[in-house]
Amino acid sequence: MITVMKFGGTSVGSPEALQRATKIIMDGNGRKIVVASAMSGITNFLVKGVEGLPDSGKGIADEFEKKHIDAAGQLLNGEQMAEFMKEFEIRMKKFRDLLEDKTAAKDPYFKDNITSQGERFSTLILSHALKAAGARSVALTSEDSGIYAEGSPLSGSADLQKTETAMAMKVKPYVDDGVIPVITGFYGINCDGRPLTFGRGGSDYSAAVVANAMNADLLEIWTDVDGFMSADPRIIPDAVKIDEMNFGEAAELAYFGAKVLHPRTIEPVRMKHIPLKVRNSFNPDEPGTIIHHLRKPKDDMLRSVALKTDLSILSISSAEIAFHPEMVARIIEKIAENEVVIYSVSTSLSTVAFLVHNNDVKSILSKLNTLDPEDIERIDVKSDMALVCAVGDNLLSKCGVSAEIFTAVKEARANVAMISEGASDVSLNFVVPMSRATDVVKILHSKYVRGGFDERF
Ligand code: ADP
Ligand code: ASP
Ligand code: MG
Repeated sequence: MITVMKFGGTSVGSPEALQRATKIIMDGNGRKIVVASAMSGITNFLVKGVEGLPDSGKGIADEFEKKHIDAAGQLLNGEQMAEFMKEFEIRMKKFRDLLEDKTAAKDPYFKDNITSQGERFSTLILSHALKAAGARSVALTSEDSGIYAEGSPLSGSADLQKTETAMAMKVKPYVDDGVIPVITGFYGINCDGRPLTFGRGGSDYSAAVVANAMNADLLEIWTDVDGFMSADPRIIPDAVKIDEMNFGEAAELAYFGAKVLHPRTIEPVRMKHIPLKVRNSFNPDEPGTIIHHLRKPKDDMLRSVALKTDLSILSISSAEIAFHPEMVARIIEKIAENEVVIYSVSTSLSTVAFLVHNNDVKSILSKLNTLDPEDIERIDVKSDMALVCAVGDNLLSKCGVSAEIFTAVKEARANVAMISEGASDVSLNFVVPMSRATDVVKILHSKYVRGGFDERF
């Protein structure tokens, strides 16, 4: 039995958290592979710090170094610390050289390289803490492990096939020998060996990629909540933990804003039928949520609601566009040139509307400006919108569900600006202004998740 155990930022964010993670790993059964995020706050610190480089390099390095040495110092005794420092200093020298390199910023992957540094050090501490607890462990970077990525800076995707081949050579021998590899989350390396990050929160995806590559039996995502909840507990304090979900439900919710899993975590495990558990490292007695292929049907109308904020609707008008699919294709091609994510599309006779992130609007407009002015009559942009994703059993096959949901939206005094129903068989998605979105989620949650089963359905 191979279990991939992923620990998020708060689960490795302090000496106490690292101690808890160490115990959880030691208590786990069978062969284990660990993937870890940076200590909490570190990636934000690096993302912010990168803007002031190279001048701010020394300050960043000093603060970063102190934080990690302090944490390690509280976990390791003198001899263990001396062992740790040997590896630490090699990694830290590389990091300092990068921070002070005046030409490095020209590299398109410079930000990926800087912002992924936190993972290189959290994993080192965790691996040494495991050794101090009596395990055999090795700290491996994504370079050492052969996690391959492709795509544009800051938004890489894993190359699953290449990663599987590489990990069979570079990681499997350790696992077979009873050694626990502790691997950096968040980034892979591209074909030139440059670090390429998977987007913020990407360590969940890294762990799923490792589980896929190593043909693991189980993926455990250890985080700071009891499991996958019926809504974001920061918005809905009485959100409840969901015991069991299927891959489709979890994938939709993660994609549409449930931050507990990176949007792309599900696919690498789904394709190999590897079950995933979401567990709380602060409460390891709680069994968490299991996500797998099939689950028992439930009576509740809604199981979970997610919210994706900071979106814009771009409506492109052109006479009878519905009869000119080649024009729609040209528009989509332009939008695709920027590799932006389109969250929803809706068409009418003379309009095609796209839901995209606020930050992508400017670059999309400049691309669309290169189209023939004959093609486009007008473009309207509605910014600061939010997409609500409601997931439940057989939502589409139950009569009157949409009517119930939109009554709740009316109660929140929100106007629905776009709807997508039927594209997925587990979810109903709609767009409302961000200013009303939280109220919509609160009402939906209290009426249909906590409200229990309505006899009429
Ligand atoms: P980690 O550092 O472990 O990766 P994250 O902060 O990325 O943790 O994700 C966990 C957080 O996700 C929770 O603390 C919670 O605030 C948020 N969250 C949003 N939606 C959900 C949900 N449906 N279920 C559980 N947590 C959620
Ligand atoms: N450390 C990275 C981030 O903060 C990746 C992760 O935590 O999953 O985005
Ligand atoms: Mg996360």
